[in-house]
Amino acid sequence: MSAENANRLPEKAAQDEVEAALYRKREKIYPREVHGIFALLRNLAMVALLGIFYGLPWVNWSGRQAVVFDLPARKFYIFGLTFWPQDFIYLSLLLIIAALSLFFFTALAGRLWCGYACPQTVWTEIFMWIERKIEGDRKDQIKLDKATISGRKLALKGAKHAAWILFALWTGFSFVGWFTPIKTLSAGLLSLDLGPWETFWILFYGFATWGNAGFMREQVCIYMCPYARFQSAMFDRDTLLIAYDEKRGEPRGSRKKGTDYRAQNLGDCINCQICVQVCPTGIDIRDGLQYQCIGCAACIDACDDVMDKMGYPKGLIRYTTENALEGGKTHLLRPRVVIYAGLLAVLFGALITALAVRVPLQMDIIRDRNALYLETPEGYTENVYTLKIINMTERSQTYRLSVSGIKGAELINREGKITVEGGAVMALPVRVRVDPVNLKTASSKINFLIESLTTPGLRLEQTGRFLGPAPR
Ligand code: SF4
Ligand code: SF4
Repeated sequence: MSAENANRLPEKAAQDEVEAALYRKREKIYPREVHGIFALLRNLAMVALLGIFYGLPWVNWSGRQAVVFDLPARKFYIFGLTFWPQDFIYLSLLLIIAALSLFFFTALAGRLWCGYACPQTVWTEIFMWIERKIEGDRKDQIKLDKATISGRKLALKGAKHAAWILFALWTGFSFVGWFTPIKTLSAGLLSLDLGPWETFWILFYGFATWGNAGFMREQVCIYMCPYARFQSAMFDRDTLLIAYDEKRGEPRGSRKKGTDYRAQNLGDCINCQICVQVCPTGIDIRDGLQYQCIGCAACIDACDDVMDKMGYPKGLIRYTTENALEGGKTHLLRPRVVIYAGLLAVLFGALITALAVRVPLQMDIIRDRNALYLETPEGYTENVYTLKIINMTERSQTYRLSVSGIKGAELINREGKITVEGGAVMALPVRVRVDPVNLKTASSKINFLIESLTTPGLRLEQTGRFLGPAPR
């Protein structure tokens, strides 16, 4: 064998190992139940987020659902605000803020989102809770899965899946309730009269929940989630992460409580494997930082509990930074954190200001395309327009319309007041008459002012063009 071929062999073996890992049959993970401060925080986050998801569609505001994204009508209702397609800028700003917040919190505190707020984590937690209530904790689940088919096994598995499916369908129903008024949806469900799209989305979302939280679980984080792949680019040596203190823990080994383990040349890790057993992705944090770690902190709670029982100080596994682990100093304020925070503050300020000065009234000026202008027998020049007025408030508004910008310009068929119902669009044909002696050019600016008589201060001015004969 040539020397070159001999060198290639270990490389090939490593490659094969990676490939084998990719195609290896999934080994089911049975995470052990864990208690502690981070489990409590995770549960609080779960209750808050699920409370919003399932509860908010039932909240009423001024006689309608407080938050509903009415896609067919192309209107988003968020408490007292109604957003129209014309308000797309606010949605864009909100999405940019959300993305930047993710960057900011990841740079500052690592996988905070994955561990505490990601829907995949939250729903997996609740599905695991149901599983534990029915099948028991880790040991009971392993025993049940290894047992041969029996009436008890079928009953437990059946009950678990029935509970999962019911919960998943409720999730699908609540999801659709964000887009279709949930009370109408409930009435449709009770009378078995749901529309085809609503039925499809309830079943589809329910199925996705059941599959992702019941079966795929950590596989979604490890193989499917793009965020898991690129977030390491946002990490630096001062990013908060969960790590095992190797210097303190090694050499690991079992020992009796109260023995002088230092004399046995042992570190603080008693090699009980509990940190591995609680891990929802099935990894051993003691092997170092791994991309599979979703930062849930279950191993911290588990190990702290072990340390407590052994009478050792807590924190063998803890939130720390790479710099701190190596005995250095952690720098909270780094350029990237300051830049993200600065950008966030600017964008947030822009969003609040834009919402504060938002005028819930829209007017488009559409010129009549059939004639450039008309000359009346009295010698006046007339232009015809259609004004598209959108009342973006929820109450009926009475407006006064006026024109300015050209001396003597007057509306000749639209005197008085115009009433537009709340959330409605009105197409209003108008004619404007001008004495041609007042036209300085063949195309002059003309301003349409619309003022609400119902809501003082609600007004909008738009500029259009008035065409006429070229001045002689
Ligand atoms: S829980 Fe703590 S003591 Fe037990 S194996 Fe993990 S790191 Fe070691
Ligand atoms: S290693 Fe620890 S923090 Fe990471 S996923 Fe596992 S239990 Fe959660």
